[in-house]
Amino acid sequence: MPRINEAFLNLQASYLFAEVKRRSQAYREAHPDARLIDLGIGDVTLPLPPAVVRALEVAVGEQASAETLKGYGPYIGYEFLRGEIAAHDFGARDVKLGADEIFVSDGGKSDAANIQELFAQDSVVALMDPAYPVYADANVMAGRSRPADSTGRYADFVYLPCTAENDFQPALPDRHVDLIYLCYPNNPTGAVMTRGALGRWVDYARAHEAVIVYDAAYEAYIRDSDIPHSIYEIEGAREVAIESRSFSKSAGFTGLRMAYTVVPREAQGRTADGRAVSLNQLWLRRQSTKSNGPPYVIQRAAAAVYTPEGQQQVRALIDHYMENARIIRAGLEAAGLTVYGGRNAPYIWIRTPAGVSSWDFFDRLLAEAQVIGVPGSGFGPSGEGYFRVTAFGSRAQSAEAVERIAARLRG
Ligand code: PLP
Repeated sequence: MPRINEAFLNLQASYLFAEVKRRSQAYREAHPDARLIDLGIGDVTLPLPPAVVRALEVAVGEQASAETLKGYGPYIGYEFLRGEIAAHDFGARDVKLGADEIFVSDGGKSDAANIQELFAQDSVVALMDPAYPVYADANVMAGRSRPADSTGRYADFVYLPCTAENDFQPALPDRHVDLIYLCYPNNPTGAVMTRGALGRWVDYARAHEAVIVYDAAYEAYIRDSDIPHSIYEIEGAREVAIESRSFSKSAGFTGLRMAYTVVPREAQGRTADGRAVSLNQLWLRRQSTKSNGPPYVIQRAAAAVYTPEGQQQVRALIDHYMENARIIRAGLEAAGLTVYGGRNAPYIWIRTPAGVSSWDFFDRLLAEAQVIGVPGSGFGPSGEGYFRVTAFGSRAQSAEAVERIAARLRG
């Protein structure tokens, strides 16, 4: 038998969403007539924008003829898409990026998981707590931590608690760290980070020769005009930040798969003997070796998002989900719950009633309101006492879920 990578055995046993599914399934089997409303995992429910569907059809048609067939494409994505991304997602906000700094991929998840490959095995990793589980798990698989301790924190990571007490804004680390994962608008808390706070993180990274992996998967949901959309709006960020975005939640691409990561030319790491190395070139080398890029037809579909009709249709999708968020937030507040998020993000983060743990609240809502959410503690120990619901359900489901929860709380 071959020896395995034993770092995998350091992962915590249960993947959050698998446990949510297991409990929901058990309830369904015991109550076959129950009409469950799932505001848990956060997959989109509206169809793709018509401009995207049209672009897909045209691109599929091109594959039917030898003259227009597309085989292997550029490893990091077609220039037609990277150019649109640079112009619309960044240029429109006065952030200048070259197309060679944009790496198109099949998902924010894979980028968030893979980027750590560029850094040394003994890099110290800092994580927001709670956080999207991929950052921690990918670093555990890479051997950067021993198993979790009794509090659920991996022994070798630096955790940055984000709770209502600090307005879900992590304090700067009190020890040296090399790799910092920040996610804003945040999944799961729905919080955003101000320009000033983000500036302090960039300053920290510059002073400590750290790199910030900035996950902006929910950037399209920002409503407040003074909240930065990109970390590159902050002076000096090009030297120390890598930013990822996804088409999943902005344009409904969870099934099609499309995302990108920006690695600026100025971003550098160093060798053990102190030689500076371009992170852009390392990522280019990594992607060229391990990927042939996302499918051409999907890249054409993504480019359609930047046409005038695509932009307008995507805006309508986001507005729809944000109206769900408003309805959920207002309804739960009226029912007496303390809620956060939902204003610049498609997640509503609920404080569980006093003395009720995240999983107890999950079980209660499932049994008494037939509503599925996600226990906050599953995103990290500082998520204990919180509960996440998503705005990605249908309008009718969102409204009914709130009514059911309110009725239970009244009852
Ligand atoms: N980052 C965050 C914070 C997410 O919540 C998600 C999806 O849920 C992703 C990245 C990954 O998105 P995708 O792989 O669909 O592009």
